[in-house]
Amino acid sequence: MRCKTCDYTLWNLRSRQCPECGSAFKPSEFAFVTNSVRFCCPHCGQDYYGTGQDGHLEPRSFDCVRCGAHIDMDEMVLLPTEGVEERRTVPDEMPWFSRHTGFFSRWWKTALRGAAQPARIIDLIPPESPAATATWFMVVTQAAIAILSVLTIVAFFVVMGVFAGMGGGGPGVGPALMGGALGLLIGVIGSVIGAIVLTWLWIAVSHGLLLVTGGTTHGIGRTAHAILYTCGPMLVSAVPCVGMYFGWMIGGVWWCVAATIMVVRGQSVGPVRATLCVIGPPAAVTALAIAAYIVLIFGAVSTARTAAIAAGGVTPATEVRTIASAISAFGAAQGRPPAHALELVAESHLSAAMLVSGMTATTTSAIAFETTDLQTFSLMPQAQARAVAARAAQSLPEGVVAHRIGDFVFTHHGFDPTDPNNAALWVVIHSPDPASNTVLTPNAVGLANGSALWVPPRQIGTLLQQQNVLRASLGLPPLPDPRTVRADSPAVQSAPEG
Ligand SMILES: [Zn+2]
Ligand SMILES: [Zn+2]
Repeated sequence: MRCKTCDYTLWNLRSRQCPECGSAFKPSEFAFVTNSVRFCCPHCGQDYYGTGQDGHLEPRSFDCVRCGAHIDMDEMVLLPTEGVEERRTVPDEMPWFSRHTGFFSRWWKTALRGAAQPARIIDLIPPESPAATATWFMVVTQAAIAILSVLTIVAFFVVMGVFAGMGGGGPGVGPALMGGALGLLIGVIGSVIGAIVLTWLWIAVSHGLLLVTGGTTHGIGRTAHAILYTCGPMLVSAVPCVGMYFGWMIGGVWWCVAATIMVVRGQSVGPVRATLCVIGPPAAVTALAIAAYIVLIFGAVSTARTAAIAAGGVTPATEVRTIASAISAFGAAQGRPPAHALELVAESHLSAAMLVSGMTATTTSAIAFETTDLQTFSLMPQAQARAVAARAAQSLPEGVVAHRIGDFVFTHHGFDPTDPNNAALWVVIHSPDPASNTVLTPNAVGLANGSALWVPPRQIGTLLQQQNVLRASLGLPPLPDPRTVRADSPAVQSAPEG
């Protein structure tokens, strides 16, 4: 029992005035732990113990059993019970409900103890205490987090403003600060509303889960106490710089654990069920957010790629058209069709990069031949490149029908592509390299006349059959399925049947 004005101890006093500051006091104005205080008769010293509410005497007025005088609790001399430390006489209370301490102290102690002693604090909150009181605690906490978080940024701009003022930009600083303050206010209010809405959503989902998994002792208000009064750890996220990255994680995990402990005690729920129902929802949301973030990143990459293709007008059809044109140009310049596709590159009719489709996962460095790869080949001096291309041509078997390089299968062997009679024959097929791709669907074919034919999904078989009928009519062997033509296994004319 200490003076409410000056904190001086008021034990063992007959006077009803603080000896230090003179303030009047009455024992009935104080709350004590039951049985922790001895009330002594002011006439004979007989002691009585406070067993009533707030540790008061019950009844508070009676005739003394020793001297018979009629005495009232407020006249008596108080002492801590024998063997009880003075500080143990003060009853513990939920700091948020305290009527004797200032607002800041109530808030700070609640934030601290809600996080550090959740089991003790939930015991001090009556189950019927309004959820609005708990919500108000979180409003204050979230406002503090929001204000502290932006304070660093504001301080930065104030410093910048001061420097700008020194540099002669003085008149503009005042309005800028006013605008900043208004923005700050709107930001704080917005973050508080957002946090309260999300937290109540969490309370509703968690309480719903508790109900369907076996019920609770009290209503949703009790679950609200548990989740709202434990939000103190989120203050860690307001720590400048560090808080923005790790504070959410540390504070969030701590908050979840403290809230779970409160639910276990407050709702008489087993720890496993409480953990699932309280930590489950935010954990699921966090996992979904991470997944969405990953999808967003990969989606953006793939969209960018599609957009680039669309913007550049590059499609499998344009790719095979470019290659078919290069084959025609090669024929016109050399008087013969290319023996191997690498000759198109060696003779500068085609860039090496064109042998890799923009629609596939293939890369120029993944296309290997001899002891080199397409990437290296594309950078060779022309004489060296011609030699490599010539050796590649020689390595093709007798009677070759189709050979692959990168994402393209070349089918111009055995006929003159410049002959108008052969205009509808396929010279190249867009067919993703099996060495680098899992989706191998051919997308387009290039014709001898330099035009392109788009291959609709699942139509390659039909188109191939038609092409082979045409080839047969011109005395040419049939083409194989382009997916079976690999860089190391060119297709050859099969031995005539019969
Ligand atoms: Zn005093
Ligand atoms: Zn007495």
